[in-house]
Amino acid sequence: MIVILLGPPGAGKGTQAQTIAKTRGIVQLSTGDMLRAAVKAGTEVGKQADAIMKSGGLVSDDIVIRIIADRIQEPDCANGFLLDGFPRTLPQAVGLDTLLEKTGKPLDVVVEIKVDDTALIDRITGRYTCAKCGTGYHDTFKTPKVENTCDACGSHEFSRRADDNAETVKSRLMAYYRETAPLIGYYFAKGKLKSIDGMAKIDEVERQLNTVLDAAAA
Ligand code: ADP
Ligand code: ADP
Ligand code: ZN
Repeated sequence: MIVILLGPPGAGKGTQAQTIAKTRGIVQLSTGDMLRAAVKAGTEVGKQADAIMKSGGLVSDDIVIRIIADRIQEPDCANGFLLDGFPRTLPQAVGLDTLLEKTGKPLDVVVEIKVDDTALIDRITGRYTCAKCGTGYHDTFKTPKVENTCDACGSHEFSRRADDNAETVKSRLMAYYRETAPLIGYYFAKGKLKSIDGMAKIDEVERQLNTVLDAAAA
């Protein structure tokens, strides 16, 4: 199935996408992760994206649409995929519509994860990930079972994102409200939108998400 997770930075898209990808066997496609990999590898795209990402702005529609267009043609996407952090603007949503029309596979559902703005700052400033496998954690809301040891791979190395600071978060939230929030209306009008309560505990959000996905798959 083809699913979009929609929500502001820190809403829990990545956290839920990681679990759902594992339990339902569909590929997680995070444009944020792909862009960070491009920056790290020093590719042309990475060079263009680096400063924009550090400032909390949005990378150009052309670049991200091209990244997704290439990625969804890979064989592992044949059984469907879960988009996390894409689309983020109306032109990206229209670009995705065009791509899906070409493949002949319909978008199943867009799940909006609703979270209070005040909670987002705490979520983002406390976020860190396993440097080896990318599993996400939080200083207070999701700590590893054994201190300083990744639950998934046992690594002791963790990293924090350069843009996960209180200052950049404000620009990212602004970009969300200006560019991304209109997509809620766009997908509602298309009859694709479902909303879940992202203020609930991680397990409860997962349960709600699974209920929505089960209904969409039926
Ligand atoms: P996004 O991908 O939407 O930016 P993440 O999934 O990275 O958000 O979550 C941001 C931070 O908040 C992470 O540190 C994560 O562990 C934590 N988090 C995610 N979901 C919840 C939740 N329901 N309650 C509390 N903390 C959460
Ligand atoms: P979060 O979910 O915490 O907002 P992401 O990892 O999704 O973070 O994105 C990090 C940064 O990468 C964004 O602030 C933006 O600069 C860039 N980015 C990711 N996805 C897109 C996209 N679809 N369009 C434009 N920029 C993007
Ligand atoms: Zn790990």
